[in-house]
Amino acid sequence: MAFELPKLPYAYNALEPHVDAKTMEIHHSKHHQAYVTNLNNAIAGTDAEKLSIEEICKNISKYPMPVRNNGGGHFNHSLFWTVMGPNAGGEPTGDLAAAINSAFGSFSEFKTQFAAAAATRFGSGWAWLIMKDGKLAVSSTPNQDNPLMDVAEVKGTPILGIDVWEHAYYLNYQNRRPDYVAAFWNVINWAEVAKRFSAAK
Ligand code: MN
Repeated sequence: MAFELPKLPYAYNALEPHVDAKTMEIHHSKHHQAYVTNLNNAIAGTDAEKLSIEEICKNISKYPMPVRNNGGGHFNHSLFWTVMGPNAGGEPTGDLAAAINSAFGSFSEFKTQFAAAAATRFGSGWAWLIMKDGKLAVSSTPNQDNPLMDVAEVKGTPILGIDVWEHAYYLNYQNRRPDYVAAFWNVINWAEVAKRFSAAK
């Protein structure tokens, strides 16, 4: 069964003014669609067609580069759409808030580390909040790699991610990646991140 572009769980303009509608539309309907199409082409007729995208990522070193780039692109964007939302932002609560405080000392220190990971990822890539050995950690990956991949420098289960490819922010923020990262805090769907945190524990 071929992979499919997931429906965006809100309107293209729902994240304005933090993420503009045009960026969302191109990002979802063009960029993510291309990853899905190219992934399906890359695995056509192979055993990978029977696997989940998570299973493919976990053994990504066994696959050719088009599967790594487009499979990672499909997993990463599928996560990305769900960890954002309208009327979101603020701070996490409950077990997730406690785990962030335990791992980083405070929510503010977590924000500093996550923003630094996003700002210092050279070129295209992602910054992540991951569960690693039962604890939260911040990491980043190049291109469309992610922490599930066996090739990742820091491996874990991603529960929050920010796309820092220029296509994610250039229309609205041009070269100002830190401004885009700062705005991202206003659209984080912490309920979804908490759900992913519980599942990863
Ligand atoms: Mn992207």
